[in-house]
Amino acid sequence: MNKIFEKFKNYYINLNSEDLNIVNLEKREIALIPFKEDLMIRHLGFKDTNSLKDYLIKNVPLHLYYSSAYYENPQVEDMNLKNWEGADLIFDVDADHIPTDCKILHDKWFCLNCNLQGFGIAPEECPKCGQKRIDTNTWICERCLEVAKIEVLKLIDEYLIPDFGISSKEIEICFSGHRGYHLHIYSEYYKKLSSDGRREIADYIRGIGIDLKAHGLRKVNGIITGPNIREKGWRGRIAKSFYEYLSRASLEELMNIIGKSAEIIIKKRDKILDSIMMNGWFIPKGIGLKRISKIIKEAIKQNFCNIDERVTIDTKRLIRYPNSLHGKTGLKVCRLNYIDLEKFDPLKDAIVFKTGTMKIYVKEMPKIRIGNYEIGPLKNETIEVPESMAIYLICKGAAEMRN
Ligand SMILES: [Zn+2]
Ligand SMILES: [Zn+2]
Repeated sequence: MNKIFEKFKNYYINLNSEDLNIVNLEKREIALIPFKEDLMIRHLGFKDTNSLKDYLIKNVPLHLYYSSAYYENPQVEDMNLKNWEGADLIFDVDADHIPTDCKILHDKWFCLNCNLQGFGIAPEECPKCGQKRIDTNTWICERCLEVAKIEVLKLIDEYLIPDFGISSKEIEICFSGHRGYHLHIYSEYYKKLSSDGRREIADYIRGIGIDLKAHGLRKVNGIITGPNIREKGWRGRIAKSFYEYLSRASLEELMNIIGKSAEIIIKKRDKILDSIMMNGWFIPKGIGLKRISKIIKEAIKQNFCNIDERVTIDTKRLIRYPNSLHGKTGLKVCRLNYIDLEKFDPLKDAIVFKTGTMKIYVKEMPKIRIGNYEIGPLKNETIEVPESMAIYLICKGAAEMRN
């Protein structure tokens, strides 16, 4: 890792200290993981970006973080004496948590107990021995990152702006440098919100605990009726989710939810879909409120916004520092605004190291693209690749330097 250390150090030497600007730096706790040991150094505080930059050159970080929280005394170790003054509202969209078809091509898991191996998303417990000691070797491809980006756009366009009234100017988007995006909401309105309050927001966005009756699904004089598809918030979203799910659901899928009555739904599908569009909610005879609710709940599950709620509810979260380097990829944590996001290509725009090539020994890797260079799958091979690819693979622990 000596060569990587030098590369990271040079990056921080050449960085403009303005690029380390964050809102109220002097009130944030700064933390880092150094190169030498896998131990987090916490409770650092800096008055300005120049003093932070000086520190980073002397103590080159493999990973660099700052607190979502604002403290009166960020550098005090005792959390109770830091004096919490508020925190940004944070959302984390991580490609790891979103099921994508490509995971079967680039992710592996191993049971540490019986050595069983498999591809794709790791099971919670080993299907052979039932133990939960499962190790994973996961990768992120451009498809995964594209799906994460679509999820971020959905979060902003379908929830934060229309339902919460947050303006795009209050939203800062950060590519994490690895698997996804963080959204920071800078608003006095949310700053003092408790963890419970933030959980309410996370649950709302994840569609948890939605009361269908309160949102317009009910039986009136023996006839089932539902919310208008053009209504704002969850009312419209319920109708839309139901419509979209019903349009694509197979008989088998529906039978898994409501049994044999699925046949009635499939037979009358077009009429039901038309009625929701016309806001009349025609539900055929023989299908009760309970069964419709079951279908809608499944539809919501397939349509909700996939955020990591643990990040949102934590009022003292340590978040990746914008314009720092991610130690598992060598990519830059990129700050983006809403307009930049659509055309942002993380595997190109976050590349920092662009000079020359490096010779590496690759232990094992799936097919990966960095910049315009694509390679893999490879196993036990020595190759010469562009610097950005070499650093990416070494940081991932999948390759070693060769001379
Ligand atoms: Zn096992
Ligand atoms: Zn993928």
